[in-house]
Amino acid sequence: MEKISRKNLSRSKIKKIKKSKENDKEDIKKIQKLSNKKQKKKYKQQLKKEKNKIDHKVSEMSRRKRLRLGIIISSIMFTFFIGRIGWLQFIMGDKLQSMAYAQQTLDRKINPRRGTIYDATGKNILAVSSTVNTITVNPVNIAKENKEKVARALSDIFDLDYETILKRVNKKSAIENIVKKVDKEKADELRVWLSENNITKGVNIDEDTKRYYPYNNLASQVIGFSGSDNQGLDGIEAVYEEELKGKQGKITKMTDAVGGDMEKEGETYIPATDGNDLILSIDATVQGIAEKYLKEACIDNKCTDGGNIIIMNPKTGDILAMAGYPNYNLNEPFEPSTEEMKEGWDDLSETEQVKRTQTVWRNKAISDTYEPGSTFKLVTASAALEEGITTTDKAGEFSCTGSITVAGVRMSCWRYYRPHGAQSLREALMNSCNPVFIGLGQKLGVATYYDYLEKFGFLRTTGIDLPGEAESIFLKEEKVGPVELGTIAFGQRFEVTPIQMIAMVRNNSK
Ligand SMILES: [Zn+2]
Repeated sequence: MEKISRKNLSRSKIKKIKKSKENDKEDIKKIQKLSNKKQKKKYKQQLKKEKNKIDHKVSEMSRRKRLRLGIIISSIMFTFFIGRIGWLQFIMGDKLQSMAYAQQTLDRKINPRRGTIYDATGKNILAVSSTVNTITVNPVNIAKENKEKVARALSDIFDLDYETILKRVNKKSAIENIVKKVDKEKADELRVWLSENNITKGVNIDEDTKRYYPYNNLASQVIGFSGSDNQGLDGIEAVYEEELKGKQGKITKMTDAVGGDMEKEGETYIPATDGNDLILSIDATVQGIAEKYLKEACIDNKCTDGGNIIIMNPKTGDILAMAGYPNYNLNEPFEPSTEEMKEGWDDLSETEQVKRTQTVWRNKAISDTYEPGSTFKLVTASAALEEGITTTDKAGEFSCTGSITVAGVRMSCWRYYRPHGAQSLREALMNSCNPVFIGLGQKLGVATYYDYLEKFGFLRTTGIDLPGEAESIFLKEEKVGPVELGTIAFGQRFEVTPIQMIAMVRNNSK
């Protein structure tokens, strides 16, 4: 800028100078303004950048913070749960176990005595339950220093493996079985030992019952047997289960929080109700005789399929004996009972062994059907007498020529080679002459004949109180023509059970 003295300058010049000065000032201002703006803008931008950075930092920080917080919370919770588990497991373990023990085992069951089965005389015992004992231990209630001693005594008295018993005594469980159904003498031996060694807790001697069959094989297929839990598995034992079994009782003990026993008042005792006794119609003496002769007959005649005898009081229908051969020992139903069964027994699979024992358990007198043959001629004769188409002793009422022709089919007498000739009904029955009964069948006709089958009880089961009664097998009435009827009339082409056959007599005498 020029240095000008005011005096030397003209007014216009002054004005100009002034103006330029002012312009300069304005320029400066503008420049200043501009630079200010730029700076501001820059500053603002910077500020914005900073802010963004800060924001970013802040958000980054809070994200990390949250993450960290999350981790911390999870860790705390995890630690808490681990701690809780540890606490339950290691610190409270014993206490909780004894509490569980208190809940689980202080209800001890008392088994009822199963009803006795007598024969018809009411004197001979066929099945009886004797008192035995079951030994259990509560390992948590046996002091550590006594465990080996207890295990040793138990294995010595009951002849058990020491290591196995020690393992059970050392278990953390509430209750362990040691031995079931031991005799009273052995249990008493344990009682003495416990009192001598001053052990009052942790070893239980509970009463139980064991089924015993004094006559072993006698009437085995009728009586049946019961299992290790005293439940009837076959025969009378199974059919009369509800009557025989009785009702279980129990001892409930009140306990404190840690499962310790409280005073006697805290104990409730619900006694067991014994089962009802049963008197069978079977007479042990008659049964014994039937079995003796059946066995002889089966051996003499080489009956590969065995055999059976039923003896009934015809007036009452009471079954006095029901013998089957081969039979089995009720005291050991799962063991082989005959010499044939014993052969190679140990080489058989368990399934095969059970299968074979089941065949001797089977009461064939009621579970198997057979073709009765000539014994059925009694049915035809009875029906004919009842219908009044024959009489018992009219000489020459019938004539056997060795065969009879029915609907064009020739049917022979068993003694076709030397025919029976003139016969009364009684003689025909004595000689078992086929043509006589074929002829009576024809006279009766299918409808009447089937009516008598029904009346004699052959078209339904007898309903005897034994398990597994089979049904008879007859042709349907509408499918029976004259030839079929002729064959049925002398006892062929159908099957009935032995019990149906003998019950016919009872049905007939009603
Ligand atoms: Zn004949």
